Amino acid sequence: MIPHDYHIHTRFSCDCQALMADMCRAAIAKGLPEIGFTEHFDHHPKDECRGYFQPEAWWAELEKCRAEFAGRLIIRAGIEIGEMHIYHAEAQAMLARYPYDYALGSLHWIGPESIFDVKFFKSHSEDTAFRLFYEELERLTRVGGFDSLSHFDVPVRTSHAVYGGYDPKPFEDYIRPVLKNCVERGLALDVNTAALRRRANVLTPGLDILRWYAELGGERVTLGSDSHFPENVGAGLDVALDTIRAAGLKYVTQFERRQARLVRI
Ligand SMILES: [Zn+2]
Ligand SMILES: [Zn+2]
Repeated sequence: MIPHDYHIHTRFSCDCQALMADMCRAAIAKGLPEIGFTEHFDHHPKDECRGYFQPEAWWAELEKCRAEFAGRLIIRAGIEIGEMHIYHAEAQAMLARYPYDYALGSLHWIGPESIFDVKFFKSHSEDTAFRLFYEELERLTRVGGFDSLSHFDVPVRTSHAVYGGYDPKPFEDYIRPVLKNCVERGLALDVNTAALRRRANVLTPGLDILRWYAELGGERVTLGSDSHFPENVGAGLDVALDTIRAAGLKYVTQFERRQARLVRI
């Protein structure tokens, strides 16, 4: 059984039209016992989602869904926070104000450059692009303050169009310090299936990175479809679970009011 889907967007994210109740129905139809909604909460001046998230309205809708689907689906309150090492005060204020179950920490920007813009990859070699990304990810995880690190090697969603197939092994020396931070700070990894649905066709993170994390003593992972459409709720999480097991990891991590609980898989 798939234990949860902890990375789901709704119309409260600027890049998504989906209704929260439809995402809940899709989760129940797929047999998921637990999900978490994680809207974008971004502050980068160039980010299209900046200022979009409306927490009061979102919490009202979440409570409505919790009541409507009570006994059939556990609904966690998550949030996907961008560049928390830079916009730390805004993030902490949001987390202090509402009873979130967990926060995903994301990196979508390196300075003024978006890692979803093909220009970033065209203007750098593959080694430079991934080095810059992982150096920034090291800074994000050094500061921490969130619960699960989103889509570890997410640049591959876009870099694939410029460099082709991706293999993290050449970047191991850049990646290990990030994983070390995660282990030391108790940050989980969001094993994210969105890039499985793109041409890159990989999990982020995949087997190699999950193995290195396990080697360093990491135990915490969450599963995330990163769905923006009901049909993608739960998508690829069977692959994610198999890969987690193959990496030698023994648990998935559930969160309630920001307390982690490790559940055997
Ligand atoms: Zn993201
Ligand atoms: Zn997301």
